[in-house]
Amino acid sequence: MAIEKTFLMVKPDGVERQVIGDIVDRFERRGFVMRGAKLMVPTRDLAEKHYAEHAERPFFGELVDFITSGPVFGMVWEGENVIQLSRIMMGATKPEESAPGTIRGDYAVTLSHNVIHGSDSLASAEREIGLWFPEGIAE
Ligand code: GDP
Ligand code: MG
Repeated sequence: MAIEKTFLMVKPDGVERQVIGDIVDRFERRGFVMRGAKLMVPTRDLAEKHYAEHAERPFFGELVDFITSGPVFGMVWEGENVIQLSRIMMGATKPEESAPGTIRGDYAVTLSHNVIHGSDSLASAEREIGLWFPEGIAE
């Protein structure tokens, strides 16, 4: 299994609820290594590019409004199979499918405010890391 990097982001609801520390702790305990992090309010342009795959969906405007509504905590994490394993640690998108013990299963009851984003493939991880960290990350 390859050492990968992924992009994870605590969404505005997670920052407001002060669960950044718990989320970072979960990934550190699992054995992953943080390679970059920033607290920022994303511009509309960045949010639209980030969620471009959903541009035609009816909820796109609402999604971009939400993600630009306050600070988010964007991170790059590295480790073996981190893309797939972090998705499992996050829990499913739909609240009725996110198991207790996962981040969403422990913190979220709505689809729109679900605390965390994580890249879903190698291609999206590379694209999202480039988008959020255009200055590059520490190696
Ligand atoms: P993810 O990869 O698990 O975050 O899920 P998706 O890539 O499918 O969707 C991106 C984000 O859009 C999700 O995390 C949800 O917060 C939000 N979302 C997805 N579907 C809906 C929807 O039907 N309505 C609303 N309001 N938000 C949605
Ligand atoms: Mg997604």
